[in-house]
This record gives sequence, structure tokens and C-alpha cells, in this order.
Amino acid sequence: MSILVYIENVEGELKKSAYETLSYGKALGDMTGEEVTALSIGNVSGEQLEKVGKYGVKKVIEVNTKDLSHFLNQAYASVISEVAKNLHTNTVVLANSFSGKGLAPRVAAKLSAALADGAISLPEISGAAWTIKKAVFSNKAIATEELHEQKKVIAITPNSLEAKVSPVEVTVEKYEPQVLPADLSTIIKDIVRATDKISLPEADIVVSAGRGMKGPENWAMIEELAQVLGAATACSKPVSDAGWRPHEEHVGQTGLAVTPNLYIAIGISGAIQHLAGVSASKTIVVINKDPEAPFFKVADYGIVGDAFEVIPQLIEAIKAYKN
Ligand code: FAD
Repeated sequence: MSILVYIENVEGELKKSAYETLSYGKALGDMTGEEVTALSIGNVSGEQLEKVGKYGVKKVIEVNTKDLSHFLNQAYASVISEVAKNLHTNTVVLANSFSGKGLAPRVAAKLSAALADGAISLPEISGAAWTIKKAVFSNKAIATEELHEQKKVIAITPNSLEAKVSPVEVTVEKYEPQVLPADLSTIIKDIVRATDKISLPEADIVVSAGRGMKGPENWAMIEELAQVLGAATACSKPVSDAGWRPHEEHVGQTGLAVTPNLYIAIGISGAIQHLAGVSASKTIVVINKDPEAPFFKVADYGIVGDAFEVIPQLIEAIKAYKN
């Protein structure tokens, strides 16, 4: 019996979530005594795959066929299931990312496995029954789920668990899966990147701004702050509704739920609907000129001040710190 960790890449580079899943798989292997194998699909260099060893996983199965060079939900789910069956895998671990959200239920159905999507903890194991915590209702609540099936699929919320370094030698094994034509019914002809920015759902740091910024013309300083911090940008709902920012940046109850290590909220009041999507962030910094703004109640650090004065100083201070 074994544990299979599917590691995601973007344009051939392993994602941060890949390291988190590897570290989770390794910890799980230490708990169950099972062997842990990583699975990479797509064109990922040997140098990148070597990094798997840094997180304590000794073996990577590399699937790098032309048909599978771009992410295809159905086909990737079939490959993960095929490899899982070959390895007599009990547990498949992957990230609850955009693609992971599509893959996890498909893989669970193919393996007749129990599914814990949005997991934020390692399981408590009692025989075949595993108890696991997961984030629900846009991270507003934590549910405790019991998994009784022998086979399990665990999709981990990005940034919810730290990737722990525990270096080992890694071997890479190439594998050619039997992909059915039906799995390849979607043909990707071209991929056009909408933006070069850091992906919001998996970002480590998010710089988010609201109506306090007065208008879209003032977003240059938000983007500059994000750039010096290596952060993704986000916004409140009225900001995207007004067309100041694209809808994919809208976070909250009706937008994206994010779980970065650092969420910086600038000129956002902290309405309950906004907090629903951001309050699971590890550290929250609020910049608002109104000391009574509700966001301060959930902030770890707060700056009462005018964003137009505070942000330029913050940018300069970060630049000076980096130099
Ligand atoms: P405002 O409430 O107008 O707050 C602006 C803030 O900026 C104020 O706190 C002000 O003190 C501060 N400010 C002003 N000038 C400055 C300055 N110069 N420097 C520093 N601070 C300044 N909202 C979301 O964000 N996400 C959602 O998913 C979402 N879903 C919703 C779903 C429903 C069903 C409903 C009814 C509402 C939803 N909302 C959502 C809207 C939400 O209720 C709030 O209206 C919204 O979050 C407010 O946005 P804001 O904080 O940017 O604007």
C-alpha cells in the first residue's frame, strides 16, 4: 500500500502547493508507514523534479507525453487514478487549487475513494477511520470530517500547512499512461496568459484594496506595493463591480476565498461578506483612516492612516529593507 502525491506545475515549474502536498504526503507516510511516491504530469525538467527530494519523497513518476503537456481535467484524473491503481495506493494527496478542485472529485470517483477537499490538517487516524479538518463556507468555518473508506483522496487548501524540508535522494521513473481518446476530447490549441501576475488563490502574500482608494487611477501604488512584496493583488466587491479592477481579483463571500500567509487590506471597511473570504489568512494587516473600521477587529496589525500617505512610505521602507 502506498501514498501518491500529485505535484502541480505551471509552465514546467513546480508550484508552491506541490511542496506543501509533498510535505503533507511525507508526514502522512511517517504516520501510516506507507511508501510515498510523487506524480508529475507535463513537461517538467529533471532539475525541477529533483526538488521533490527536498521534502522527503524519494520517488517521482514522470508522465511527459505530448497529449498531456497541457492540463486536461479528465485526462489528468485518469492518469492519476491509473498510477494510483498500479501502486496499490490507499491515499492520493493533491492541492485544492483551481485544477485540484476539478481533479480531486474525479479521482475519488474513479478510485471509489472518500474525498476530503479543502483539508487543513493531517488526519487523526483510528484504524481505517480518519478524522480530518477542512475549511468550509469560504473558510468561515472549520468542519471535522470522518473518512471511513479504505481509499482516500485529500485535497489540501493552499498555504494552510507549511512545506517542511527533509532532504532525501530522489529517483525519477518515466511512465507512459494509457490515455483513452475520450479523455482527450478537449483539444487545447493555444494558451494565452491573461496576466503575468501571481495567482491569487495560491499567493503567499495578497495586497488588497477597496473603495478607500477612490478610483482606478490610484491603483499604481497598490500594484507597486504588491510588486515589491512579491504579492498578488485583490480587491473588494464594489471595486470590481465598478470596473476599477477585474472581477477575478474580487475576494469575499461572492468572490474568491483566499488563505495567504499575509493579507494586507487597504481602504477596505471589513464588511462581513468581505471577511468571509479572507479571514482564514494567517496574518492580517489593515490600513484604514477610520479607527472604527470593523476590519481592525480581525487585524493582527493595524495602521490608522491615510492610504495615500502610508503606502508610499511602506513601499520605500520595504525597498530599503530589501537593499
Ligand atoms: P467601503 O465600505 O466604502 O469602505 C471603504 C473603506 O475605506 C472605509 O473603511 C474607509 O474608512 C476607508 N478609507 C476611505 N478613504 C481612505 C483612505 N484615504 N485611506 C485609508 N482608508 C480609507 N464585499 C466584498 O468585498 N466581497 C464580497 O464577496 C462581497 N459579497 C457580498 C455579498 C452580498 C450578498 C452583499 C449584500 C454584499 C457583499 N459585499 C461583498 C459587499 C460588502 O457588504 C461591502 O459593501 C463591501 O465589502 C465594502 O467594500 P469596501 O470596504 O471597499 O468599501
